[in-house]
Amino acid sequence: MSIAENIAVIRTKMDESAKKAGRDPSEILLCAATKMNDAQAVRQAVAGGVDCCGENRVQELTAKLAEHAYDGKPVHFIGHLQTNKVKQVVGKVSLIHSVDSVRLLEAINREAEKQGILQDILLEINIAGEDSKSGFSPAELPPILEKLSGYGSICVRGLMAIPPICQNKTENHKFFQEMCNLSVDITAKKYDNVRVDILSMGMSGDFEDAIACGSTMVRLGTAIFGQRNYQ
Ligand SMILES: *Cc1c(COP(=O)(O)O)cnc(C)c1O
Repeated sequence: MSIAENIAVIRTKMDESAKKAGRDPSEILLCAATKMNDAQAVRQAVAGGVDCCGENRVQELTAKLAEHAYDGKPVHFIGHLQTNKVKQVVGKVSLIHSVDSVRLLEAINREAEKQGILQDILLEINIAGEDSKSGFSPAELPPILEKLSGYGSICVRGLMAIPPICQNKTENHKFFQEMCNLSVDITAKKYDNVRVDILSMGMSGDFEDAIACGSTMVRLGTAIFGQRNYQ
């Protein structure tokens, strides 16, 4: 199947999952996770109707920006970002999903201030407390959110998570549900520089479950582009 056909199938599944959960399908965005896919494939995804693209690596982002691969749709950064590469990402992407440390948050704020822009970000949550993954623990969140008034060049638009692959749906739902609850909690508190309207969760294997639990942005790679070639 072509990339456009894959996207059409995904859209149908997204709509069905939303409706089953009593949600409005239009409130859930489809982000194409474009890592390891070339500019031509990315252009096909953009033409095929994804809402945005998400890049993992700075090098790929820079190369594909130069090739105008994302033209027509916003591009986001969704991978682990090192503080020394912040300059190549801030102002180049409309949203950084993967802010996983205060050090990174400060570096992004500094660079955005230097550029005179407001950079939208998401805070990445390590919802299952996995050693292999980065991100804040839910308990770390409140003190960070309280300090955000001191960072005038970033706006926290919500949360992002990559929950573990679970053997059963119940376990899977538990992590997504915890993320949704966390998102509702911080929305209710009305912190400065926080305007929570994005909950980024759900990938090719579990996006329907993520939507059932309140995701507003799913990040799909394999389901759109096919298996990545790691050679
Ligand atoms: C690769 C990637 C995805 C997409 O993964 P698939 O399983 O291929 O859909 C989503 N989010 C992040 C952060 C990724 O790195």
